[in-house]
Amino acid sequence: MNYTDIEIDNLIEELTLEEKIKLCSGASMWTTEEIKRLGIPSIVMTDGPHGLRYVVEENEFGATSDKRTTCFPTSSALASSWNKDLLYLVGKTLAEEAKSLGVNIILGPGINIKRSPLGGRNFEYFSEDPILTADMASGFIKGVQDQGVGTSLKHYVCNNQEYKRFSINVKVAERALREIYLHAFERVVKEVKPWTIMAAYNRVNGTPATQNNYLLNEILRKEWGYDGLIISDWGAVHDRIEALKTGLDLEMPGPTRVNSEKIMKAIEKKDLEEKILDHSLKRILKTVFKAKENKITVDFDKHDEIAKKAAEESIVLMKNENNLLPIDFDRLNSITVIGEMAVNPRYQGNGSSKVTPYNLSDGFTVIKNSIPKSAELYYSSGYKSDEDSEKQLKDAVSKAAKSDYVIVFAGIPEEFESEGFDRKNIDFPEIQNKLINEVAKVNKNMVVVLNNGSAVNMSTWINQVPAILEGWLPGQAGAKAIVNVIRGEVNPSGKLSETFPMALEHNPSHLNFPGVNEEVKYAEGIYIGYRYFEKKNINTQFPFGHGLSYTEFEYESLNVKKEVKAENNIKVNMKIKNIGNRAGKEVVQLYISQKNPYYDRPVKELKKFKKVDLDIGESKKIEFTLSYRDFAYYNPEIGDWIVENDKYEIILASSSKDIRLKKTISVKSKDKAHVLDVNDPVIDWLDDRIGKKALIEVLNAGQIDYLEDKENIYITERPLYRLDFLSENMITEEEINKIILNYRIFRGDNYFN
Ligand code: BGC
Repeated sequence: MNYTDIEIDNLIEELTLEEKIKLCSGASMWTTEEIKRLGIPSIVMTDGPHGLRYVVEENEFGATSDKRTTCFPTSSALASSWNKDLLYLVGKTLAEEAKSLGVNIILGPGINIKRSPLGGRNFEYFSEDPILTADMASGFIKGVQDQGVGTSLKHYVCNNQEYKRFSINVKVAERALREIYLHAFERVVKEVKPWTIMAAYNRVNGTPATQNNYLLNEILRKEWGYDGLIISDWGAVHDRIEALKTGLDLEMPGPTRVNSEKIMKAIEKKDLEEKILDHSLKRILKTVFKAKENKITVDFDKHDEIAKKAAEESIVLMKNENNLLPIDFDRLNSITVIGEMAVNPRYQGNGSSKVTPYNLSDGFTVIKNSIPKSAELYYSSGYKSDEDSEKQLKDAVSKAAKSDYVIVFAGIPEEFESEGFDRKNIDFPEIQNKLINEVAKVNKNMVVVLNNGSAVNMSTWINQVPAILEGWLPGQAGAKAIVNVIRGEVNPSGKLSETFPMALEHNPSHLNFPGVNEEVKYAEGIYIGYRYFEKKNINTQFPFGHGLSYTEFEYESLNVKKEVKAENNIKVNMKIKNIGNRAGKEVVQLYISQKNPYYDRPVKELKKFKKVDLDIGESKKIEFTLSYRDFAYYNPEIGDWIVENDKYEIILASSSKDIRLKKTISVKSKDKAHVLDVNDPVIDWLDDRIGKKALIEVLNAGQIDYLEDKENIYITERPLYRLDFLSENMITEEEINKIILNYRIFRGDNYFN
């Protein structure tokens, strides 16, 4: 039932103070409180986002779900699909399962940026790029929320590592915060309004994220206009009173006896106004009443198909020398499958997102069922335990030597990457490196399938192996999807959602990860992922946006106006053609590069992308619309997003490294890139949005007219500090000082940057 604002206000009036306080924290690990006498129901939340971890009955933290639900690929995989519609479908499907279990809010998606490949939860996050992250998350959230189920966008913000995750203080400059870490949150909040936002465990610039006035109040509520519910990550509240004052509505989990007593005391002592509690209650009740009770039944086989489709679109063909792939299974004589993960797949991440899958496919069985009866199929684990690994290795090599093809299922074991701790390195386990190298010596028709949540270093064998498929953590139907790609039933169309560096030390955060003494400095600023590798001209194993296909695409006819105004929308169009001999999908990536920025900028940045489906010989026209923000950067002096009057390159690419078309355009803009001071001429103050606001705030209309009189260059070109003298005190020194002060306040100068 949807209540009006007035009805909710009336309900709040009827609540006793005890009831109010009770409602501000959970009733259990996964539910909110109910107040029966007023018809306020309890709602249920469970973890996601790649499947439902339904542990409501156990009411135990970290418990394994006894309800089997569909396990989809994790976010790093899903983001590699670059397909917003697919994310919508996954969200919609999850919401159906949520309804079937009576779950009202799915705790996800997590949209933190992958600052380092070592981040233990990287598998749960989408990308190193905020635009790709935002689009994927928006698709997913819309898919869920269109069904009447809520989401919790998490973890707001700068939750980019597991080391001291409950307390670490992230020191981040304003520009990096805005352009990298807040960026996806901003877009998602504005585009799809998630029902709830989960404030993170960590601190940001000294203040816990759960009581950070700047982040919660100033930015999220005031700047972005978010009026949904802010909840705490589980046990993340440091000071409940401060948290309430800064707008953190619901503390999870609950009940929280100690904090409830503190709230009561604070109200009694007038340290906390009851109306602050009421504001939070309003948002809690609005969300509670939005949740709908409409149980449905779910067709899990259909959902398995969707999980398979999602995995198929997410798999990235990293390397395919001499078109080794696809393998024609119908003509197959013999094939050897190697690797423990072929029978015991690594398909999802570990921690709060872990689900009990409805089905589970494994590579060996799927291959067995897909090849002709006449074909020989060998299997060897290649390694198992240290004691008999030599024996296993020998077995693998001898079987590999006698078959036409070898498929090695390799990857990062669960003990190496998980919520709760960071990875120690990005290396492959030695035992697997050795296995791949030895097998490569005896059979050149070798495919390595990878299962991992984030970048890995393949340097010890990358040149020996002709074909590599990044399967990610592909969910319950992952093996079916992988085999479909291997045999060409599906033409791979995934593109890497993160850079694979040559070495861990190349990574921009390397010198400041994971920090010391409770603090981590994001000293690399905005240079995360490809933004850094391109700026420093460092070679990578595989660049951001990379992914091959079994067909080829031709990019042509890039069309964009030569000169545009920053405030207008700009159309960019082009034609793309499938010139190979298979139907396939291509992700066209649009990057923008500013020619002469006043403040340093990345070589180029992703702004838009489109996934296009093309039949053999088919060509399609595609169009992108660029707006002000696509050209803008966050100027730390001005304290706002600005577009400089400059030349910009519009780049269309198949990966961040594979540029196909580009055109330079002029963007006309009045924005200024530097901060005004008393030495700047009056005309610059008038031309500047914030400068003019500061003038208007202090001066009357007559004084402004006097300054705006263009004829009067005697005044307009003089520095502000001379005005008192030049205007013969029509504008006084006191007023000039006030103008400067206002200007600084409007820009938010006091904030660390
Ligand atoms: C995680 C959240 C999760 C919550 C509930 C926390 O430890 O950080 O992502 O939603 O637990 O399981």
